[in-house]
Amino acid sequence: MPELPEVETIVRELRGRILGVQITEARLLKQDMLKHPAERKLDFGQFLISKRFTSIERRGKFMIFALDDGAKVIGHLGMTGKFVSASDGMPDPNHLCSQYSFSDGSRLDHIDVRRFGRLELYQPDEPMTRLDHIGIDPLDPGFSAEAVKSLVFSRQGNRRKRAIHTVLMDQSLISGVGNIYAAEALFRAGIKPDRFAGRLTKAEQVRLAAALRQVMLDSLKEGGTTVSDYRRIDDKPGNFKNLLNVYERAGKPCRLCGTEIKRIRLGGRSAYYCGTCQKNK
Ligand SMILES: [Zn+2]
Repeated sequence: MPELPEVETIVRELRGRILGVQITEARLLKQDMLKHPAERKLDFGQFLISKRFTSIERRGKFMIFALDDGAKVIGHLGMTGKFVSASDGMPDPNHLCSQYSFSDGSRLDHIDVRRFGRLELYQPDEPMTRLDHIGIDPLDPGFSAEAVKSLVFSRQGNRRKRAIHTVLMDQSLISGVGNIYAAEALFRAGIKPDRFAGRLTKAEQVRLAAALRQVMLDSLKEGGTTVSDYRRIDDKPGNFKNLLNVYERAGKPCRLCGTEIKRIRLGGRSAYYCGTCQKNK
């Protein structure tokens, strides 16, 4: 599933391709991808035709496309979504969900095999309540050990004695962190994934905040991590997979100490760690 560095990579690449160019046609091929407005009275093509995208921002794993009339499109890639750069006249790819043609002859294909992603359309003055619940993100300027502490270690964060790995993936607390970067940040901070969030020491909170931010920046430099479906908009994979320390490396030796990487189940998800580098205190 695309996490923060993957979505940020796509947003940056899209800015270089589609901003300021007039939309000549927009097609929604999978109606079930449009989650807002709920009544689905809007005609997708009519909503977008002749407009231009003026900015693309990211909140957590959501992409916010602003149009020149003040309307907005929200996109989420779900598990398998991707945006692929194409040009007019190229055949439609399989699993095409939506498609945008531009006045410069370029085209953007939105492909999603499993269709857990979503699209939402907002009128110029309509509030985007969808984004209200999204927590601070490791690339936000205000992200720090204090921010992590106040959110993760709040009553909401540590009630029911939740494992830190599970808490990190709660998008209402910290956004953009999924299975890959929760595992990698905890490895870098030397914290075992099943530690209770509310029991982390001050020093561990500081290390974890720094590790979360740095692992996102390091992955962004490599265009993100491709483990299965994620692709950049030129349909090429991200290269951070080669630099992962623990994620999906169960049974392999730790890159730092040689200990075999372990896999455990936490909150229904797999968590990976090194028993030597990430000792429970
Ligand atoms: Zn190790």
